[in-house]
Amino acid sequence: MRIFDPHIHMTSRTTDDYARMAAAGIRSVVEPAFWLGQPRTGPGSFTDYFDSLIGWEPYRAAQFGVVHHATIALNPKEANDPRCRPVLDLLPRYLDKGRVVAVGEIGYDSMTPEEDDAFERQLALAVEHDLPALVHTPHRDKARGARRTLEVVAASGIAPERVAVDHLNEVTVGMVRESGCWMGFSIYPETKMSPPRMVEILRQYGLDRMLVNSAADWGVSDPLLTLETGKAMLAAGFTDDDVDRVLWRNPVEFYSQSGRLDLTDAGAGEPTFAGSSVKRGGS
Ligand SMILES: [Zn+2]
Repeated sequence: MRIFDPHIHMTSRTTDDYARMAAAGIRSVVEPAFWLGQPRTGPGSFTDYFDSLIGWEPYRAAQFGVVHHATIALNPKEANDPRCRPVLDLLPRYLDKGRVVAVGEIGYDSMTPEEDDAFERQLALAVEHDLPALVHTPHRDKARGARRTLEVVAASGIAPERVAVDHLNEVTVGMVRESGCWMGFSIYPETKMSPPRMVEILRQYGLDRMLVNSAADWGVSDPLLTLETGKAMLAAGFTDDDVDRVLWRNPVEFYSQSGRLDLTDAGAGEPTFAGSSVKRGGS
């Protein structure tokens, strides 16, 4: 099984995770810029983080044979903090970088007017920089959040097939499918979406435009839940080709729209683990 995790926060994970992921067949990851738990107090804190997402983290990943790309944005939660908002003006220079394959995570946390503004401005940046957008939906009041998200996406003028709406569940999948956007699902160990629930959604809605991720971060999460979902699909009667489509070809297709996805070094051989030479520099 070859696996592409389209949404995982490797900054929060250890080298043990990289080793386990490589051994499990995870050859490629996309790391969206997000909230680090501890509130940031100014734009400089973001730029150091963004530099790390396109510099240090791809270097760390490469040592385990994992290809790493990033998405860059002001996350919805910190869009509410006036100390952080000036980072919006710094985004264009990151959106031109070669390892950045989308604008994200953008969208809603609490659905405030400040979040509206940051969301709209960053969708405009995606259009301007010809990049796809990765959109986070709120964990509370999901149906209202997803509905409002789709309205803002439609009004922005970005093509729906260039947008992934993430953290969906049984309540929100239908409306996103209808919109023409890609559907993202984060599989968690305890709460929210689980592998069996994911399999049921795939059975009901098909494999088109479906993205499965672990969204693993600094909270309770598991970078191998993409693999577990693949296994659950096989156990439920899906074919190897179905699993490959959902866990590899779909995310490749979505992020290839950036024109920047470079998988030359993904799965070229067995994972090389730490100590090997770095295969690719940032750009
Ligand atoms: Zn995330």
